[in-house]
Amino acid sequence: MVFRYLLSTVLVVQLPALTFSAEYLNGIKWEKPAIVDPGKSDAAPPADATVLFDGTSLDNWKNGENWSIEDGAMIAGKGVVTSKAEFGDCQIHIEWSAPLPVKGSGQGRGNSGIFMMGTYEMQVLDSYDNETYFDGQAAAIYKQTPPMVNAMRKPGEWNSYDIIWTAPRFNDDGSLKSPAYITALHNGVLVLNHFELKGDTPFHRPPQYNKHAATGPITLQDHGNPVRFRNIWVRPFATVQGEQVRPPYILDGDKETPVVVGD
Ligand code: MG
Repeated sequence: MVFRYLLSTVLVVQLPALTFSAEYLNGIKWEKPAIVDPGKSDAAPPADATVLFDGTSLDNWKNGENWSIEDGAMIAGKGVVTSKAEFGDCQIHIEWSAPLPVKGSGQGRGNSGIFMMGTYEMQVLDSYDNETYFDGQAAAIYKQTPPMVNAMRKPGEWNSYDIIWTAPRFNDDGSLKSPAYITALHNGVLVLNHFELKGDTPFHRPPQYNKHAATGPITLQDHGNPVRFRNIWVRPFATVQGEQVRPPYILDGDKETPVVVGD
């Protein structure tokens, strides 16, 4: 503690001239992070993304033949569409627009939904000047939590969701090993922060986890409203790996001093 006190005093008084001779080294050999070309804007798919819809074709979707494309947007039609590609932990970008003219109210206005792993719904709804139960409004995890704020744009304008999805894990006996988590931005505004899902998101019963595969599709809901979608891409991600090749230590010149755990 005395050392820390002295160090902080020195930092405040002499930072510009200060040089450290001792360095902390964590002893972990990290893998080199992959290089990813991020694209021309934050909405453009990075080089390692799987593009599910680029405005031209519904070939990447099961039941795509029952939805339509107009002006580069896919329009909700008859039945859900489900991506042919499957994902576990992933980053999702999707843009959507509530229908014009405005029709209906509450859950009946611009309703659709984005189902991670075909199972866990983040609500799509025209929540601009359209109140409904809060855990059913746009950007809610349906029947589990409202978004922290309502960042809706007007009907006809484009909304974006940027979603960080951590898939649930299951034990061999079917029990839950670790829950799903979601972090999400709606039009760049944080609406869900590492929210722990309680299970799936049905209308008629409490959420529950049922063991499923490690990967699953993205499903877009047909709720009878012509919601439009565009620019949909997904990036699987994995935690960077490192191997603890030696215990942490302080290196001061040639002198190596082990870092005592709990110090
Ligand atoms: Mg919905």
